[in-house]
Formats: sequence, structure tokens, C-alpha cells
Amino acid sequence: MKTTEAAVQKAYETVRKSAPSGEVATYIPELARINPDLLAISVIDLQGNQCSYGDAETQFTLQSVSKAFSLALVLQENAAAVFDTVGFEPTGNPFFSMLPMESEHGKPRNPFVNSGAIAVSSMIPGGNAKSSYANFLGFLEQICEEKPVMDVDTHRSESETGYRNRAMANFLKQYGWIEDVDTAVETYFMQCSTLTNVRQLARMGLFLANRGIDPLTQKRIVDEESCRAIVTLMTTCGTYDYAGRVAIEIGLPCKSGVSGGILAIVPGKMSIAAFAPRLGTHGNSEAGMELLKLISEELSLSLFQ
Ligand code: GLN
Repeated sequence: MKTTEAAVQKAYETVRKSAPSGEVATYIPELARINPDLLAISVIDLQGNQCSYGDAETQFTLQSVSKAFSLALVLQENAAAVFDTVGFEPTGNPFFSMLPMESEHGKPRNPFVNSGAIAVSSMIPGGNAKSSYANFLGFLEQICEEKPVMDVDTHRSESETGYRNRAMANFLKQYGWIEDVDTAVETYFMQCSTLTNVRQLARMGLFLANRGIDPLTQKRIVDEESCRAIVTLMTTCGTYDYAGRVAIEIGLPCKSGVSGGILAIVPGKMSIAAFAPRLGTHGNSEAGMELLKLISEELSLSLFQ
């Protein structure tokens, strides 16, 4: 852990000193209120050694990082049904795009663009948004041994302004991919509004670095095949139309969110969470990606070298 800790600290110091770039997301009004210059990183290895730097206890909402966990939850329930409903392929479009589902019978191409994630949320058992979200929180509690909560203001803000996500849910319903528009979209808004911090988020991702078993509790969270599907999709689609660049520069499965969080998995080794609210043009944390790039380079973590 000493070498890792030194690399993480060095990356943190470098990024903290560099000029900030990017802008915080404002299309969800509540997200615009965040301090744009927060910066945090946390790394946990399979033995449970963890090191964190910066605003590691500052809470932020999971946003699209939650999509990796909702996918894990539903794959555990019925993997075949999941991949009948959402595909495996990158879209090359932004996360909020309705392309190419329009010309593909309304079927979302992958579970990490919003349309696919809304379809995945509709498969969380529960029958209504409140119960489905309770199951989602129960799943998170299982993987981080703490009980996360929802930020009610972010949820209200998303729900009041999420016209595009509602449009997608209606589109999915029109083609029969989901049962109930409100259940799907509200479950999705709630999961996106779940609060976390980098220390906890890195812990949540640990099972993905260990073939689906939480190495600290020895509990199997998802089967090996599902784990492989999740980390592969994180690599090809986790940062949307920026995933190619991320694969080259960081070389790790990553899932980003518009509040500035990013989860990166180093299979067989560790889980990394970064947080910095300023986003690049593709909706990924600028400083978060820079931290991951520096750490990946320093520790030779890229899967593709
Ligand atoms: N809740 C956000 C949305 O639906 C999540 C998007 C993201 O983090 N990329 O737009």
C-alpha cells in the first residue's frame, strides 16, 4: 500500500496545484450550488487498506455512478432479461441522447446511457419507486457496510426538471421496454440522488475488482459473468462518448456522474473513487480524470499496456 499511497498523494498534490478547468453541471439546478473546487480521491485495495486525500468525507450525489450498482442489482435478479432489454454497445452519443434508440425499436444500446439506465431502474424489484429505491439502498448497504441516504433537494430538483428523462421513459414505454413510466423514472431519479463520499464509493466498488465477491466480507454480490459484464461495459460505455479517450489515457473501467464523482476499477487489485465537480464537455469530472490518469500512469495500472 505504501507505493500506492505515495502515488495517490503525488497525484492529488499535482492536480490540486493545477489550474481548474471545466464547469459544474447546472441543468439539474441543485447541482449548480456545489463548491466547484472540491477535490477528493480514495483508493482501497482487496485487503481493505485504504488511503484518501482531499475532501474525502464531503458528500456528493452518485448521479450516473449509481448506474453501475443498479445494473449489478438487476443482473443478480435476472441477467437474461436485462440484456434482452438493454444492449452492450457504445452509442458514441452523449448520455442524454435519444439516439440511436429512435431507429432501434426504442431499445437502449447500453445500460449506462440514461435511456438504458432508466430501463434498468424499472427492473429493480419493488413494484413502485419507493420500494424499488429501498431495495437499491439495501443493495448499497450490503456493498459498503454503511447505510447511504438520498438527498431530498437533489431528488426534487431532478424530478422537477427531468423532462428529457421522462421523455425517454415514455419512449421506452411506447415500445414496451418498461412497464410503468413513473416508477422507472422516479426510481432512477432517487438512485441518482443518493449521497456518498469518495471513501465510501471506493468501498462500494470493491466487489467489482474481485470477480463479484466482496473481499472484506467474503459475500458474493454478483456472479462472475455479471461482474465481467459490468466492468467491461464500464470500460466501453462508462464515460459515454469519451470512453475511447479514457481507455487510452487511464485504461481502466470507469463510471462517471455529473456531480463530479468517478469510480474506477482495477481488476484483481483495487477500487478508486475520485470527486471534483467541474466537468468536461462530455460530462465527466475533469480533475477526477486527471487524478485517475496520473495514478494509472504512476502505478502502471492500465489494462491495455
Ligand atoms: N441524473 C442525471 C441525469 O439523468 C445523471 C446523468 C449523469 O450523471 N451523467 O441526467
